[in-house]
Amino acid sequence: QKIVIAIDGYSSCGKSTTAKAVAAELGYAYIDTGAMYRGVTLYLLENGIAFDDLPRIEQALHEMQVSFKRNRQTGRNELCLDGKVREDEIRQMRISNSVSEVSGLPLVRHAMVRQQQQMARRRGVVMDGRDIGTTVFPDAEVKVFMTAEVLTRALRRQEELATKNEHVPVEDIVDNLQKRDHLDSTRTESPLRRASDAVLLDTTHMMIDEQVDFVLERVSA
Ligand code: C5P
Repeated sequence: QKIVIAIDGYSSCGKSTTAKAVAAELGYAYIDTGAMYRGVTLYLLENGIAFDDLPRIEQALHEMQVSFKRNRQTGRNELCLDGKVREDEIRQMRISNSVSEVSGLPLVRHAMVRQQQQMARRRGVVMDGRDIGTTVFPDAEVKVFMTAEVLTRALRRQEELATKNEHVPVEDIVDNLQKRDHLDSTRTESPLRRASDAVLLDTTHMMIDEQVDFVLERVSA
């Protein structure tokens, strides 16, 4: 059965944790599209390519290989650039601080959206991002749009970063989340917004299990 579950929403609302658990429960593939934009950002930074150098970015998009590799120990899909796992680096604050500028570029979006559509061709998939229900899969069978209060989101992100030994003041994270949400919602190309047929899920006072059940109920409905 080829069902697409689209989970969109603001930064750090628990989209990926929820999406991953739903995918595991259903035996579907899980694709974290934010990781792909983070991967492109890392590539541009590492190769000294300015974010306004469109011809070089175009060329870079042809050269770089963005893919996922399954880690057998954790069962997680890890982002790879040119075949090498870069999962830890793409989660760092320096990437979070630049990614929305890169993801706002139409040429970057076109390349990523095309790849995302191809990834879901064969089997059921849970995809999380900002434009899955609006642009990547406007016909997705299940669409969820997640939000949560910004401080709750920042505290969750702070904890996550701390597990990777990056200690960031909560104000800096709030600032990053707000800036990204603003840039993501105001860009011209497929801005972050709720698809008219997406159900709203506010996770401020929810536990992960409840969020997962909420999505699973939509699938069986
Ligand atoms: O999901 P995550 O927070 O890792 O996404 C990082 C950034 O990638 C977002 O802030 C946004 O700029 C971009 N993004 C996007 N479209 C998607 C997924 C992520 O523009 N489908």
